Amino acid sequence: MLRSTLLKLSEHKGFAKWVTSNGTTRGMARRFVAGETLDDAIAAARACNDAGMLVTLDYLGENVATTADAQRSRDAYLEMYERIAKEKLHANVSCKLTQLGLNLNTDFCQGLVMSIVEFAAHYDSFLRVDMEGSLYTQRTIDIVKNVRVRNPAVGTVIQSYLYRSETDVADLLAYGCRIRLCKGAYKELPEVAYPEKRDVDNNYVHLMQILLSSGFYHAIATHDPRMIAATIRHAAAQRISKDDFEFQMLYGIRADLQRRLVRDGYRVRIYIPYGTDWFPYFMRRLAERPANLGFLIRNFFQR
Ligand SMILES: Cc1cc2nc3c(=O)[nH]c(=O)nc-3n(C[C@H](O)[C@H](O)[C@H](O)COP(=O)(O)OP(=O)(O)OC[C@H]3O[C@@H](n4cnc5c(N)ncnc54)[C@H](O)[C@@H]3O)c2cc1C
Repeated sequence: MLRSTLLKLSEHKGFAKWVTSNGTTRGMARRFVAGETLDDAIAAARACNDAGMLVTLDYLGENVATTADAQRSRDAYLEMYERIAKEKLHANVSCKLTQLGLNLNTDFCQGLVMSIVEFAAHYDSFLRVDMEGSLYTQRTIDIVKNVRVRNPAVGTVIQSYLYRSETDVADLLAYGCRIRLCKGAYKELPEVAYPEKRDVDNNYVHLMQILLSSGFYHAIATHDPRMIAATIRHAAAQRISKDDFEFQMLYGIRADLQRRLVRDGYRVRIYIPYGTDWFPYFMRRLAERPANLGFLIRNFFQR
């Protein structure tokens, strides 16, 4: 119920204005967001690399209003690859397609993705296309497949809460696509997504097993110790090497677990978001852990 309210509030303009201008909530957001500039993200990436972790950088933003905004986002992504190379960081990049105009024009968006992937390949790097709400799932998969047949430096994300995900995994694997598996962070209807956490988790384990046994390099993105233990067990039982997959976690969440996995010899990549447009990302992080949040909502309604 609280998760659903928080995800609904993530679309509320008045709430967004209050959250982004309030000192306390800005401070809270800094736990999950490296800062507002690329320099902030680079510093956070350096700290992760120094601690033995890989990184994926994300320039925050979604649902742009104009194609010019989408082109500016594309330029920010190109700059990221240049900086990553210049700073000799072990990092790649993640992006959201509605930040690159998917909500405006699919062909236009695909063109921007193609140009970013070509740039990524030039730097011997990779672009991970994040998965957004289910309204965009098919178009995201289509774009990733279309781009991938021309350049393999692209992969995407599958969400275990969607009923369709096993079919999508098979479709993407037929293209040799690298997949990040996550549970899913958006507000979805029971017509398209499992409402019960138990079913989301069971599907996560099922999909994880398909991915790890596929022979391609995939990413298991979760902070859930049970999902991580299931992954480690499956890899050991199937004799899948620790170098043949990676765990991924979000910046600011379960640093203890991140360190433990590195210590145990697993590859761990941290998703580091930065930028000024952090409100929806922050709200999704709060929705994942609503227990801490009563005070935020109380403060808003008591203004
Ligand atoms: C690298 C990465 C990339 C992602 N990319 C996408 C994407 O493209 N599309 C998408 O829909 N979702 C994405 N997600 C989010 C994901 O779908 C989940 O919403 C999120 O990871 C929480 O699920 P969980 O697997 O950690 O399990 P949960 O069962 O939600 O959490 C397990 C435990 O992790 C800790 N935890 C989880 N979230 C938080 C939090 N916000 N604050 C504090 N503690 C927390 C708690 O200890 C919790 O008990 C991504 C997640 C990661 C790690």
